[in-house]
Amino acid sequence: MIKCNANRLEKLIDLFSLFGKTENNGVTRLSLSAEDFAARKKFQTLCEEIGMTVTYDDMGTMYAKLLGKKDLPPIVIGSHLDSVIKGGRFDGVLGVLTALETVYTIKDEKIELDYPITIVNFTNEEGARFEPSLMSSGVLSGKFDKTKMLASTDKNGITFAQALNESDFEGSAANRLKEASAYIELHIEQGPVLERKNLDIGVVAGVLGMVCYEISVYGESNHAGTTPISMRKDPMFTAANMIVDMQKQLQRLDADLVYTIGRINAYPNIHTVIPLEVTFTLESRHQDPEVIAEVSRIVEGLPRSSNGCSVKTTLLWDRDTVDFNEEVVGTVRAACKELGYKENQMYSGAGHDAQFIASYIPTAMIFVPSVNGYSHREDELTSYENCAKGADVLLNTVLKLCREKVNR
Ligand SMILES: [Zn+2]
Repeated sequence: MIKCNANRLEKLIDLFSLFGKTENNGVTRLSLSAEDFAARKKFQTLCEEIGMTVTYDDMGTMYAKLLGKKDLPPIVIGSHLDSVIKGGRFDGVLGVLTALETVYTIKDEKIELDYPITIVNFTNEEGARFEPSLMSSGVLSGKFDKTKMLASTDKNGITFAQALNESDFEGSAANRLKEASAYIELHIEQGPVLERKNLDIGVVAGVLGMVCYEISVYGESNHAGTTPISMRKDPMFTAANMIVDMQKQLQRLDADLVYTIGRINAYPNIHTVIPLEVTFTLESRHQDPEVIAEVSRIVEGLPRSSNGCSVKTTLLWDRDTVDFNEEVVGTVRAACKELGYKENQMYSGAGHDAQFIASYIPTAMIFVPSVNGYSHREDELTSYENCAKGADVLLNTVLKLCREKVNR
């Protein structure tokens, strides 16, 4: 089995961690910021130095192309170079750098592939500066309206269109990612499972479906000292009971179901005042749409009134489970087996560009372990050894796909 150059990959990771480096060794590299431009320019230079041609599309997404022996639809690999505020050195960028290391190794080994290889850097995956996240892959796959995306503004009122227009990376819609033989995205797991199970690689078979509800409980606001308990309509205790009751019901559904009450607000939120309103969110994710439907039934089945308070539930958003392409997923798994790396098939709980690209290109993802499961933090970490193993899997998946497709 051919392996990547772990040393070179380590140097690449260290080099790119300088673009937007924070005090605590993290990274702030917001989409289309000066730090992002510096990383993009370095990426472009490195690609051009090894004979790749770099183009941009109308959302600023970058494509570095290595020609194949035949003019076939390319095998696409990569991820995103942008980060959240005070994010880590691995999220996104590792998918781009392992893709670059893959091409370096193909060149080192003088392998001539029938298929062209394209390394992609999707613009604004994080949505940390311009909402929403997965912006460019959303436009590519037709999930998002480009005009609306261009009008998205950052906190200083600068539109995405303006930031892109003032950059060196605004290209043409003709360069968009269209037909491709496969898309493979390597990413950090952003969860604790691989590390806990002592695994090297997560073979990602898809992205979990989810629902997010907002639940508002309306009571009667009054003085906290003068209103006897028996005369209150208190939305806080009503909400608290409702949350405990929901937890009991959700626990019974499935051991793999995850559910979170991540936001809760009381109004007017003053310690001497019985709240008028308490609003909270319930977000839940699972692979099986039937289980998600059960969650919806529980939330939508909440009483409309309770303890004198009225209750309103609103579905904020949902997404169906995305299943990746069985053949490409199988190839990733086979590459792990041949390399002797411990792997397990899993679904991603987090969203990735791959979930949108999967709607029109055969797609799979490769996860590498996150130390403590941390991500979107400055101390986000994946060992260099695990990064290199991920690169080996990416490289060998590409090689296997090329061989298998040619032999068919
Ligand atoms: Zn990411």
